[in-house]
Amino acid sequence: MPRLDNRNNNELRKIEITRHYTKFAPGSVLICFGETKVICTAIYEEKVPPFLKGSGQGWISAEYAMLPSSVTVRKQRDINKGRLDGRSAEIQRLIGRALRSVVNLKMLGERTIWLDCDVLQADGGTRTAAITGAYIALRDCIDHMTKMKLLKTSPLQCAVAAISCGILNDEVLLDLCYSEDSEAQADMNIVMTDTGEFIEMQGTGEKRPVRYDELMDMLDMAKLGIEQIFYHQYNALEKE
Ligand code: UDP
Repeated sequence: MPRLDNRNNNELRKIEITRHYTKFAPGSVLICFGETKVICTAIYEEKVPPFLKGSGQGWISAEYAMLPSSVTVRKQRDINKGRLDGRSAEIQRLIGRALRSVVNLKMLGERTIWLDCDVLQADGGTRTAAITGAYIALRDCIDHMTKMKLLKTSPLQCAVAAISCGILNDEVLLDLCYSEDSEAQADMNIVMTDTGEFIEMQGTGEKRPVRYDELMDMLDMAKLGIEQIFYHQYNALEKE
């Protein structure tokens, strides 16, 4: 069955990455996967959460939010509800875990890097775009800290990117947009390193259970998709 935007099943949406998007954060990236647009910033602070005080190691923490106008029906800001949305909490923990896993926290010293991911427009895959963009913001922030002589060498061990995949009409698809995601029989979010290793795989049989061969097909498709995303990340990071 043809996809809504006529993409092949294993085809990514158009990826656009703009570094130095805002002025004050050392890392600031606008990342777009088709109609999904997320701004990711990285800012360091010379302090760590209480549980790390005196440990000599640093921390990476993430926050994720959707702007009210990022979806078709106005999304109320969490601050007005008086509590953090469960979905946002789940996503920001995923972003933090994913990026922490490739940073040598001892080398970072007693500092925190905050990764703030704000969705300007949501059309599926906001968490995977956020992880992919947050890596670039983190790289820029760490390069800045190195230039400022706060760090001797980069504590980053490898690059990180993420993509969604799923099953719709019994076919495996890469990089689902919202209308595909909302109808999908199963969906997954895969986070990987540029050394070909997996960081996190979240998958759910939403409308039916998933067979082993389908799961392997999704992993293979996601792996090939992420390899293309790394190409975009490298290109973006090569520019000044
Ligand atoms: N979405 C929405 N309102 C919400 C949450 C999600 O319209 O409160 C839409 C949005 O397009 C989002 C998509 O549903 O990108 C898929 O949401 P999901 O929770 O699967 O996360 P995502 O794919 O964005 O990481």
